[in-house]
Amino acid sequence: MPIDPDLQSRGRLVRSLGALREMLPGSFVERKRACGRPNCHCADGKNLHSQFQISVLVQGQPKTFNIPTRLVEQVRQKIEMRRRFEAAADTICGINLKRFLQQKENR
Ligand SMILES: [Zn+2]
Repeated sequence: MPIDPDLQSRGRLVRSLGALREMLPGSFVERKRACGRPNCHCADGKNLHSQFQISVLVQGQPKTFNIPTRLVEQVRQKIEMRRRFEAAADTICGINLKRFLQQKENR
């Protein structure tokens, strides 16, 4: 049997999905804001604070959740995992569609 490169890629992709199990939905947002304290460095309106958030649909409603500073990098990576998951699913579906169309031809 010749090795089917599509099946090899599909197998590799499917096996890679386990590493993405901690993925988070939504998008990563950075907002700049002033805290309101008159003596803070942000009071000049230029050196603003960064607030990081997850923006996500919950039961169809848009929500944003603040991300504590200690979790920012971790959350950013988990949201990125979702993007890779979707890309892998698209590729797997593309391979399966191609195989379906080939099977259809072979009858
Ligand atoms: Zn401030």
